[in-house]
Amino acid sequence: MMGPSHALSGAAVWLAGSWALDHFGGYAQSPLAVTIGATVCAGAALLPDLDLSGKVTRNQGGATVARTFGVFSLFVAEVIEKVSLGIYSITRMPRDPRRTNGHRTFTHTLVFAGLVGWGTTSLAAAYGKWAVLGVLFFMAGLALRGLFDKWAERAGWLIVTLTSAAVAFMAASQLDADRGYPLLGTAVGVGCVVHLIGDMITRSGVPLLWPIPLGARMWRMIGIPDGIAIRAGGPGEIFVLRGLFTIVSLLALLAMFFPGVFSSIHLDAAAP
Ligand SMILES: [Zn+2]
Repeated sequence: MMGPSHALSGAAVWLAGSWALDHFGGYAQSPLAVTIGATVCAGAALLPDLDLSGKVTRNQGGATVARTFGVFSLFVAEVIEKVSLGIYSITRMPRDPRRTNGHRTFTHTLVFAGLVGWGTTSLAAAYGKWAVLGVLFFMAGLALRGLFDKWAERAGWLIVTLTSAAVAFMAASQLDADRGYPLLGTAVGVGCVVHLIGDMITRSGVPLLWPIPLGARMWRMIGIPDGIAIRAGGPGEIFVLRGLFTIVSLLALLAMFFPGVFSSIHLDAAAP
């Protein structure tokens, strides 16, 4: 999937999940907490593609995320790609193919999703507000780049960076350590998992279960069969998937914060 679809799917899953927790589990969140969670989850849904630096093609997921903070994120992407390639090469089994690029390897595993989610919560717990500010700044930048890609492209990375800083500043003051910090880590972890699912339904698949060896391969790519896979960047992704994510997000928001809309529809239908 392309960057904007990944970001949108992150937001949709977070909003739908928040609604379900509220509706079935009685776990209500303030509109602000839901907004922060959805933003972080949308940003984190781009995070795994921060391993795409070298062959950045315009308008592909990696390009979107790697350009967020200009040369800084391009450099980070370069480092992550090389580190991922290192992990791949060291843990490769004889039947895993040789690779010269680390894209879609370590950052596309459940282990990575768990590590960054746990790491985020730990960082916030250990360093408090400053760590929270940093995480929010980074994730808001990714979310802006993904959700408003046309705007971000026009505005350039400096404006995106300044806007992210402003968003982070406002949001950080509102998060309390009790519920806010675990929320942050959960949103980051969930965002990464949503990204993996997104990549799995497009053609290539991801090495989801590394380092569990499957059929003498450590890095087996897992995805749905080619016949039913959605073509990355095709109409199935642009119109069907993005439309679906948008509708799910809007419905979840309405159901959480304007439940009156649904009960009135219900009453009208029930009226004789
Ligand atoms: Zn990816």
